[in-house]
Amino acid sequence: MNKDIYLTNNLSNKKEKFVPLDKENIGMYVCGPTVYDNPHIGNARPLVIFDILFKVLKSKYGKDKVNYVRNITDIDDKIIKSSKEKNILISELTNNVINDFNNDCNYLNLDNPTQQPKATDHIDQMIEMIISLIKKNFAYEANSHVYFEVSKFDDYGKLSNKKLEDLIAGSRVEISENKKKSEDFILWKPSKDDEPSWDSPWGKGRPGWHLECSAMSKKYLGDVFDIHGGGIDLLFPHHENEIAQSRCANDTKSFAKYWIHNAFITMSNEKMAKSTGNILKIKDFKENVDGQILKLALMSAHYKQPLDWNEKLLEDCKNTIDKWYEVYLPVNDSIALSNDILSPLYDDLNTPGYIANLHQLYDKALKGNDNDKALFVLACNFVGILNKTKKKWIEFKKTKSLINEDDVLEMIALRKKAREDKNYKEADIIRAKLLDKGVLIEDKDGKTIWKLK
Ligand SMILES: [Zn+2]
Repeated sequence: MNKDIYLTNNLSNKKEKFVPLDKENIGMYVCGPTVYDNPHIGNARPLVIFDILFKVLKSKYGKDKVNYVRNITDIDDKIIKSSKEKNILISELTNNVINDFNNDCNYLNLDNPTQQPKATDHIDQMIEMIISLIKKNFAYEANSHVYFEVSKFDDYGKLSNKKLEDLIAGSRVEISENKKKSEDFILWKPSKDDEPSWDSPWGKGRPGWHLECSAMSKKYLGDVFDIHGGGIDLLFPHHENEIAQSRCANDTKSFAKYWIHNAFITMSNEKMAKSTGNILKIKDFKENVDGQILKLALMSAHYKQPLDWNEKLLEDCKNTIDKWYEVYLPVNDSIALSNDILSPLYDDLNTPGYIANLHQLYDKALKGNDNDKALFVLACNFVGILNKTKKKWIEFKKTKSLINEDDVLEMIALRKKAREDKNYKEADIIRAKLLDKGVLIEDKDGKTIWKLK
């Protein structure tokens, strides 16, 4: 694939050509889940978006040339609180949620990241980074706490376009008597007696959340790497703090070269937030919605735009997938996808543009031969759609009552009537329509029986 990849870089707020630091070894870090509760549909958006970016990068540079690291935050205030509320051990809670999270990723048919490191496995690296920051005078200890001194880092606020004065005036910063200045953020804090803790030069405690991504990206991708991604809510302060920690600890002029953020999902145009009770968990969809329907819905808006989530969107996507299965045939991936087909994805992950291409390929496949059909299925497979056989799709439709038995019986009655009227053409049309729905009919002993093909 000769085509260049373009991405909107939040460091410049411009669409830029993607030029890797080393095309043999591309690094992408995406902030993963905090495993205190099952992921919701808002968490699924970055999972799908960065999975597509991972696929696009692999298509251009080669399958084994891209290192995609997505961390798991398994120590955090919310986790401690949730384990107390549920009266279970933290390890039990986090193991359960990690297991459910991995199942959700399979349900969405995502490629596994190259690494999925857990924060609690990297406490030593975090402590090392704090020691280095204190030594270089970017951090200070106060009463068993360690803080990063924001005013020591000149480029603080460059990613989020925030000025230090605004930060100081803002109410988002946590006030503490241990801090020198209100904008300073925590690197290490003491744990209460019933909280998990690790030994450190500053006493028993645990790391601040921002630090884990600096420590784990360094370990798996190095001091400077290509792409850092996440939801737009992470841009400030989390990503700003990651840059400050990493650049100061590593003595580098940059950290990640491209910063990519996806916009929120809204529910009927209201931001989905816990406070409004608008939470839809991924696992809640599993009962009735196939993963590829959810995936198509999540791809339906460009990642920089908010995506409004509603019943109609899911219904439309369900109908689209159902229609697309009409031309399904099993493929192997020996046919390469052309520049033209992939081009919207190379242009800043334009997923709606790619879906438009899929519709065009479908139209062609409907009128065309097996090669046209194979090309269409392959283009769907590229983004993890039409990944199950038609038989499985029909089974899914059956179990999820997408095939209504009353409708089938009504059509069989209509066919019977047509045959009695000697209107065999109409009877054949009805048989073909049923076949399209995956219903096979058989006339036996004057009766018509039906089954799923
Ligand atoms: Zn992070």
